[in-house]
Amino acid sequence: MDTNNHSPDSCIFCAIVAGRAPAEVVYEDEHTLAFLDINPATRGHVLVVSKTHARDIFDITEEAAQHVMRAVLRVARAVDEALHPDGVNLIQANRRAAFQSVFHVHVHVIPRWWDDGIAAPWKHEQGDPHMLRETAETIRATMVHPEGGGM
Ligand code: AMP
Ligand code: ZN
Repeated sequence: MDTNNHSPDSCIFCAIVAGRAPAEVVYEDEHTLAFLDINPATRGHVLVVSKTHARDIFDITEEAAQHVMRAVLRVARAVDEALHPDGVNLIQANRRAAFQSVFHVHVHVIPRWWDDGIAAPWKHEQGDPHMLRETAETIRATMVHPEGGGM
């Protein structure tokens, strides 16, 4: 059973987009909405969502994803100017294993401060060069290239 699937009818972010659930909205355009996360990692933690329901990055169209990314830039720049954080993380989770908990695609814009207590999620340890090459070959084999592109 695919436990990652939630229908738009039971989707909390679709309810927020439709105005059926409350949210502290900070940005809206034709395609996207941005609002404060109710469990903020830091002050100013914003979620940017597509107005059209898509489960995750594997479900969203490239066009809708472009709209989301444009809104993310606008939100991140506004947050930066308003709150003057030391840094900003963009975090985007797909499927439960990557700690997605709301199955409507979204990007977290998280202002960061040196003393905010948030730790890096992985260690910087050098990878084995043979493994890196083999992994790159495996990924290249399934890569879709734009017309005129290529490696
Ligand atoms: P993720 O774990 O990446 O799927 O993130 C989902 C985020 O949505 C979490 O950080 C939640 O705190 C947040 N969230 C869930 N419900 C709401 C809501 N009604 N309004 C605002 N944020 C929400
Ligand atoms: Zn939805």
